Amino acid sequence: MNRNSLRARVTAFYVAMLAMALIFFSIAVYIGVRAYLTKSLERSLNTTAHSIEADYLAPLEVKGPAWFQAEMSESYPPGISDPFVRIFEAGKVLYDSGDMRDPPVRISDLPHPTTAEGLNDFHRTHSSTGQPLMVYTVAYTSPNGRLILVETGASMEPLQHLLHSLFLILLIATPGILFIAAVGGYMLMARPLRPVVALTEQAEHVGRKQMGERLPIIPSGDELERLSLALNRMIDRLEEALAHNQRFSADASHELRTPLTIIRGELEALLQMPALPAQAMDGISSALEEGDRMSRIVHSLMTISRLDAGGERMEMVPVELASIVRVTLEHMSLLAEEKSIALSCQTDERIYVTGDVMRLKQIVVNLVDNAIKYTPTCGAIAVQLFAERQRAVLIVSDTGIGIPAEALPAVFERFYRTDQARSRVSGGTGLGLAIVKAICGSHDGTLSIESVEGKSTTLRVELPLLQLSQREISDLHSIVVNPQTDRMPSREQVCEKPAEDLIHRKV
Ligand code: ADP
Repeated sequence: MNRNSLRARVTAFYVAMLAMALIFFSIAVYIGVRAYLTKSLERSLNTTAHSIEADYLAPLEVKGPAWFQAEMSESYPPGISDPFVRIFEAGKVLYDSGDMRDPPVRISDLPHPTTAEGLNDFHRTHSSTGQPLMVYTVAYTSPNGRLILVETGASMEPLQHLLHSLFLILLIATPGILFIAAVGGYMLMARPLRPVVALTEQAEHVGRKQMGERLPIIPSGDELERLSLALNRMIDRLEEALAHNQRFSADASHELRTPLTIIRGELEALLQMPALPAQAMDGISSALEEGDRMSRIVHSLMTISRLDAGGERMEMVPVELASIVRVTLEHMSLLAEEKSIALSCQTDERIYVTGDVMRLKQIVVNLVDNAIKYTPTCGAIAVQLFAERQRAVLIVSDTGIGIPAEALPAVFERFYRTDQARSRVSGGTGLGLAIVKAICGSHDGTLSIESVEGKSTTLRVELPLLQLSQREISDLHSIVVNPQTDRMPSREQVCEKPAEDLIHRKV
């Protein structure tokens, strides 16, 4: 469960609201029940006291004490009566229903009521054995002036038990209800959010792949429908702008190729002229060098715009990556040797991916070429290839000049070069990593970089691993790579012939 998802947040919000409502409700129920039970007990004590006054004390003088005793014992039998009843006259007990048996409460230890305190009032006290009691005392004055105190009382233990049980029920039920509401709410939210999830997945798909596809329109007539329509319109506009951009760079680089070739030809012809002054020769050579650089840039731009547009003719076939990496490194080892750089290669066998052989080689070439370029003499470059979690992982690490931390996020951008790289005479075009990234993208892969300035740089390419059957593997291995035709041109050749077919070197 993603805690930051809309579904989780809406559920959390609604559970929080429900929790507040339940807590408020529980407190209200508890207070209400307690008030109701206390009032009921008070009412019962009050009614008992006043009915004793009316029914037994008023006729007492006429009917006599024996009748009174008999009637009281019958109505409020000793030990059984709940509430208990005690009647006093001038400190003398007229009637006492005695200790209560159920619940057992000792009444006999309670102090006698006096006229001085608590008349016509409910007060709480405790029996000698600690039980909580509620007691009510009224004073009755007979027609001939006798002052009689009537005391009624009851144990508050049943009431407290009831309240305690209610408290426990609320305490257990509230989290239980909240848990059920959270799980139920989370599951129920899946349904209304399904179109949003579909929309998001499609939007991601459109972003990752080409833009040709559109988002599904949710025919709900609400905000979701408007959102899907608005997003589709936005994708239309983006697609248009992107296509315009791609057309522009493809057209520009295409248009630049012919004049560049002509300039090159003219300059080379000039260079062949006899008795050319040394200064002119220098100038022409320098112009040729710059022309070569420009050709490389134009070629790289064309490659990128084709990869972007998906118009690049790529032959996506099952490929054994280890042999591609090894063959390519073999071809590049001379460049490393020139700088006395130790180039090591460690590849796992049987790592298959679906891809275009030439483009996959280009990944290796561009990364290793950079490593060689940015590693000082006597440094080391290590290339590793292994499988990890259904991905083929290619790592190229070097002990070179590294990249400043602030420059790292920009190195995959087109024409980006760090300051150290700019100051180098060998200088690149700033398009090598952008091409690798575009190739990775077109192979559903990723490219990432880690670097410590002045120490090391590691580039990591991940491509989806291809699972092949034994038969497919043997079929694949029957197609032998011909090292002669795959021969890697040297950097000098690259400069001399920056034509499109030389895709093995860094462009
Ligand atoms: P360039 O043609 O300039 O090498 P890239 O796109 O290949 O262009 O690389 C972009 C920038 O990233 C380079 O200019 C360089 O500053 C930096 N860079 C790339 N690879 C490395 C590396 N292995 N070590 C140090 N810096 C690197």
